Amino acid sequence: AAKDSGRGTSEFFNDELREQASTHLHMHQAILQGIRNNDFLVHYQPVINSKDGSLHSIEALARWKHPTRGLLLPKDFIAIAEKSGAIRELGNFVLNCVCMDIPALQAAGMKGRVAINFSSHQFYDKVAMDHWFQIMQQHQVDPTCFTFEITESMLLPDRERQRDLLLEVNDRGVTLAIDDFGTGYSSASYLKHFPISLLKIDRTFVTGVPDDPHQNALLSALIHMARALNIDVVIEGVETVSQVNFLNMQTANLIQGFYFAKPMPLEQLIERYGNQPLPKGPRAQNERRKN
Ligand code: C2E
Ligand code: MG
Ligand code: MG
Ligand code: MG
Repeated sequence: AAKDSGRGTSEFFNDELREQASTHLHMHQAILQGIRNNDFLVHYQPVINSKDGSLHSIEALARWKHPTRGLLLPKDFIAIAEKSGAIRELGNFVLNCVCMDIPALQAAGMKGRVAINFSSHQFYDKVAMDHWFQIMQQHQVDPTCFTFEITESMLLPDRERQRDLLLEVNDRGVTLAIDDFGTGYSSASYLKHFPISLLKIDRTFVTGVPDDPHQNALLSALIHMARALNIDVVIEGVETVSQVNFLNMQTANLIQGFYFAKPMPLEQLIERYGNQPLPKGPRAQNERRKN
């Protein structure tokens, strides 16, 4: 054991790095394979208008039905996909899934946009952007069906080019939202600089509400700022009735959180929120989704 402890920390560090790199490479390939095998799918979480309990919109959240590890959540694969570049394929896959689900959502009488999450790695070049609109066109789905959620930390570098891209996406009919607002390098000037029509306030601002006066003040300030700028606000991560009551007092009525609903498969969403049952008969996405 004395011999072992004599090994330099740098060597240990290298071993660890090497192991990490090979794990990442393995994960990268596993993600691409998973996409090819249709092992990825999306769940939808409702955003509810607490005034009347109606559905405002839904958010598509990626899931991975892993052949051996079971159903994986984004924390198990998004960061790796971002680093390895697989996020591009994954993003196109998610957009494709949503496009296939939209006819069923519309048939069930569900209005409101579908929000899709984007990473900085996806939101950088015009070729990738044109491809999203091609996917929509292939499915004959209108861009006005979508909101793209962008995390604010990605809006830092190369502002002008990004602004042009965002403006074009917006011009083509997609609404833009800032996700996890308040956690990144927030600056109110983004909200004027970019064509943003919705802010999603991160759930860390709701934790502690309404018992922690400091948290109450922060959340309330964010809500008022958005309102002053004429931007809609969704509060994320609402879990309790006392949080809902607090938000009602602030007239912040667009709420996404476990209090109302967790993310769920399309079938369940339509069962709970649609006003028509899901049409019978085989659907392409049922076969594809392997639910
Ligand atoms: P997000 O976009 O902020 O999505 C909301 C996350 O908060 C979801 O986690 C949702 O399940 C969770 N959540 C909602 N309400 C509550 C609540 O009341 N309490 C708690 N504790 N959690 C709540 P999920 O599905 O695990 O996704 C995590 C993150 O992964 C997302 O955060 C998003 O940033 C990222 N993500 C998900 N799907 C995609 C995707 O297709 N592409 C990209 N680039 N990122 C994705
Ligand atoms: Mg989101
Ligand atoms: Mg969010
Ligand atoms: Mg979040």
